[in-house]
Amino acid sequence: MIRCTKCVMPETWPGISFDEEGICNICRENEKEIDFNWEEREKKLKEILSFYKERAIKRNNKYDCIVGYSGGKDTAYTLWTMVKKYGMRPLVFTFDHTFPLSPDAMYNLMEIPKKLNCDHLLFTMGTEFRNALCRKGSEVLGDFCWHCHNGVGSMPARISKQWDIPLQIWGEPSAKYKTYGADSYEDMEEYDEEHFKKVGQAGVTPEMMLPDEYELRDMMPMTWPEGEFELKAIFLGHFEPWEQRKHVEIVTKELDWRHAEVEGTYVDWDKVDCPYEPVRDWQKWLKFKFARTTFQASKDIREGLITRDEGLKLVKKYDGKRPKALDRFLEETGMTEEEFNATTLKHSPLKK
Ligand SMILES: [Zn+2]
Repeated sequence: MIRCTKCVMPETWPGISFDEEGICNICRENEKEIDFNWEEREKKLKEILSFYKERAIKRNNKYDCIVGYSGGKDTAYTLWTMVKKYGMRPLVFTFDHTFPLSPDAMYNLMEIPKKLNCDHLLFTMGTEFRNALCRKGSEVLGDFCWHCHNGVGSMPARISKQWDIPLQIWGEPSAKYKTYGADSYEDMEEYDEEHFKKVGQAGVTPEMMLPDEYELRDMMPMTWPEGEFELKAIFLGHFEPWEQRKHVEIVTKELDWRHAEVEGTYVDWDKVDCPYEPVRDWQKWLKFKFARTTFQASKDIREGLITRDEGLKLVKKYDGKRPKALDRFLEETGMTEEEFNATTLKHSPLKK
């Protein structure tokens, strides 16, 4: 398997390419950060925020922005930054994947918005429908998370429209991981309908994802709202350097954000917001023969925290182990392991 000569990302990642030095497009994209005028960008952010602050006051709206919140480190940091650093009044919105959370993850999800004195709206999907979508997601895309990735994009847009809150703040820009038609840093991407279709839906429409026993209207929460409406959905990571470890430190100290041991990785703060992330990693491994540690090690190599050799060792140690969480996932969603494996493998570029 060909890997980037700088990080450890492999050729199987959809959207990756390598230049003449064998360095991947994700590494090249991240090198650009060094040349950014972050002060200028922060000034721009402040202008955007004060415009929408004023707008909310004029319209007598309690909320001047929406922050999508999962309880993970990225959204916790984004929320903290908006409230504490910029004095915004966000409506916190969670599209709940409805998988069982650990007490610590539950604390992060439910208590932190309260601590920041924010109002929090939680959308929870019925279990049978969610399970049907998990099965269908595996079948159509080899990814059981499709419904969640859609809902986190479409539901805030629906609320923006309905509640007249046209500003949304997202965290990590997709230029950081560069796939499924992600934008470049210079594009200063926004989460609009085009981004939703490209990155959220991964090119799969609700029609294609409709489980047999359901109607198209059941997919409504996962579809983009119809008609014209005002929306500016920006990524905080375009306005300040996106530094994972610094964010973890801040939310731990300021919000008592809780860490948790997660299967399949060497850090205790990544994706603690979903108990089945290790299952998703396993699905990645089955399809592409790499998983979460490859991503994390690659980020850490780029940031100069570990060497490439250390990264390769970590990848060998952690990636590609069948997670314990798979048993519970299969039991909960009613899939057999054979079905899970077969539907996933159908989408592997390696099978040919
Ligand atoms: Zn690379």
